[in-house]
Amino acid sequence: MPAESLSSLLGLHDDAEGAAQLAQDPRWRLRGWCAEFADAQTEAGYARYSEQLVARQLQWTLGAWALFLLLFAVSDFLALGWTAGFQILLTMRVAVVACVLLLMRAVARQPRLATRGFWTTVLECVGFASFMLLYVLRPDITFWIYATTLMLIVMLLVLVPNRLCQALGVAVFGALLTAAMLARTDWPPQELMRLGLVLVLPLGMGYVSAWRVHMLQRQQYALLMSARRSNARLRDEAAQRAVLQEALQIQATTDPLTGLANRREYEKRFLHEMARARREGGTLSLAILDLDFFKRVNDQYGHAAGDEVLRHVARLCREEFRAVDIAGRLGGEEFVVLMPGTALHSAGDVVLRFLRVLEQTDIGFEGLTLRVRATAGVAELLPCEEQLDVLLQRADAALYAGKQSGRNRVMLAQPGGAVLHWTGEAATAAD
Ligand code: GH3
Ligand code: MG
Ligand code: MG
Repeated sequence: MPAESLSSLLGLHDDAEGAAQLAQDPRWRLRGWCAEFADAQTEAGYARYSEQLVARQLQWTLGAWALFLLLFAVSDFLALGWTAGFQILLTMRVAVVACVLLLMRAVARQPRLATRGFWTTVLECVGFASFMLLYVLRPDITFWIYATTLMLIVMLLVLVPNRLCQALGVAVFGALLTAAMLARTDWPPQELMRLGLVLVLPLGMGYVSAWRVHMLQRQQYALLMSARRSNARLRDEAAQRAVLQEALQIQATTDPLTGLANRREYEKRFLHEMARARREGGTLSLAILDLDFFKRVNDQYGHAAGDEVLRHVARLCREEFRAVDIAGRLGGEEFVVLMPGTALHSAGDVVLRFLRVLEQTDIGFEGLTLRVRATAGVAELLPCEEQLDVLLQRADAALYAGKQSGRNRVMLAQPGGAVLHWTGEAATAAD
């Protein structure tokens, strides 16, 4: 019978969705008869994972074993009285109980002993061997001792937590000892043969039950671990996606050279500020700043120097304007600043101050010190204006007038269409 059919016959879901996936991973492959992971590292991981539980189970089982050993001393006494036979049996029981208690203590201190199973196996062998004394000292109840042996074999395989291969070894050892004890009796050979054959039953039944439990526990462990791994992978992927999304968001909304808002983002923020200004009856002004003779910077010092100047101006925009003002770079060497709650003349003052700071700022680039100036056109949003482009056009026209009339100045686009050269205190008309 193929191994898969045997597994499903014994209730292992080898064709269940999760288990089928696991079967493809060599890490989770299970070794047939001893019901352990073929990969030693995986098995060690499973042992670590189940250590505490197995240790607790073993302690409970050992406790029950010690209790039963002592309880049955009463039955010995009732049958044998205070005879040498009883005393030998009592000594055996006390010695085994002492060993059991010792192992309980050791397991409490070192839970790993439980999953390794070595000392459990030794104790089981000692227990089984000493149990055989009953066949010698209580021949009156040989048949009952034999029946108990059958149960002990099943219990040993099913109830005592141990590695399956070791438990099987002890069970076979116990069965052989029992067969040897039966051979000592004067029962007819046919009867002995039958009883010997019956010993195979608890061995087989106990082994199959224990094998099934061991396999299912490991399958469950494998599913749990692979689910945890998938979860961790999903979490990582989600985190990476979030980082990527943020990067994309930044990319979509900012100018890569200066980090200021780009045209698209600027449109959005303008609409937002315009709606607020309308709602609150406030003012909103916009300035376009264009660096004067910027081409010369590129021509004289190279494009990289020009880039550094643009980055520096952007930094200055962030520092010099208020946090609520929105600076952006719409292209080339043109910057825009949206100033909520600021009327035209106040905006003119603010921009004028900025130009003064700019012209006095040293911009370092590869050992050079550069200085730039700019011309600005400022316009205030009119009640009839709904679009950024319209406001930009008026500010741009004022800027153009500033370029024409000498540069390094602030020009105000007045509501009537005229343009003022704004010097802070007194304004003079420009053509
Ligand atoms: P004006 O005073 O009339 O504004 O003169 P200008 O030289 O500043 O203006 P012009 O339009 O002649 O030149 C603008 C220059 O800006 C040309 C272009 O190479 C440069 N420029 C545009 N974008 C960038 C950029 O991202 N980096 C660099 N380094 N230069 C840029
Ligand atoms: Mg320019
Ligand atoms: Mg320009």
